[in-house]
Amino acid sequence: LEAQFLRAQRLESIGTLAGGIAHDLNNILTPILTAAQLLQLKLPNIDERSQQMFTTIETNTKRGAALVKQVLQFARGVEGKKRTIVQVNHLFSEIEQIVQETFPKSIEFSTNIKSDLWAIVGDATHLHQVLMNLVVNARDAMPDGGTLKISAENVFIDEHYARMNLEASVGSYIMISVADTGIGMSPKIVDRIFEPFFTTKEFGKGTGLGLSTVRGIITSHGGFVNVSSNVGRGTEFKVFLPAVEVTATPVAENLELPKGNRE
Ligand code: ADP
Repeated sequence: LEAQFLRAQRLESIGTLAGGIAHDLNNILTPILTAAQLLQLKLPNIDERSQQMFTTIETNTKRGAALVKQVLQFARGVEGKKRTIVQVNHLFSEIEQIVQETFPKSIEFSTNIKSDLWAIVGDATHLHQVLMNLVVNARDAMPDGGTLKISAENVFIDEHYARMNLEASVGSYIMISVADTGIGMSPKIVDRIFEPFFTTKEFGKGTGLGLSTVRGIITSHGGFVNVSSNVGRGTEFKVFLPAVEVTATPVAENLELPKGNRE
């Protein structure tokens, strides 16, 4: 039993370490890829050999990013657990209930789901945890009140977007946005928020593990997360999760195919 405990503890610290390294490594790989792509644009009449070298840089930075993703999946150990079809409207109504019962009345809350939303294949408990962490952070960012909006829509990531964003691959996603009108963050802080144990909250109020868990769960679902924030104006987290292109009937759990809105 003790051995099991030690193993679990060791795995947890490896997970934390790997999560931190993986995030830093992505921050290193992204400028390499961007610089190579910009350089390529600056040199229009490039010879074939040099073109090949650019392709090598591009392919291998992408490969590095894929490896980072795998390490994160391993570290989190979420892969292959309790996967079901998860409907975002179910997730949202659970969050809505908690927010309405426990958040201060000075926070105005709204949800918005685009019709014919696709579904996610994933671990409902973990996805719930992602949303909870994001709304609690939003609440903490609005001590004097404000508005908190969560919304969801179908998006298609095309080749152009996937080329520019290391973590994204071409395909169908559900984009969940959590937006607040709180204190916001400086770019320096945004750079660090996914690091395990990074927190700006006073001692005892924050662990700094919320967003590293969020990122780990999203990565293990094959998704990615974007952040935009302005000091004094607010913050928006956009969570992208791979979607299965079926829209679920709200009443029954049955699935039906989208009515001719594709092809
Ligand atoms: P914790 O909430 O325990 O501090 P997190 O990993 O969830 O840990 O968040 C890390 C830090 O990111 C927070 O301490 C805060 O500085 C910043 N942060 C996260 N979400 C927001 C937000 N919505 N608005 C402003 N700052 C935020």
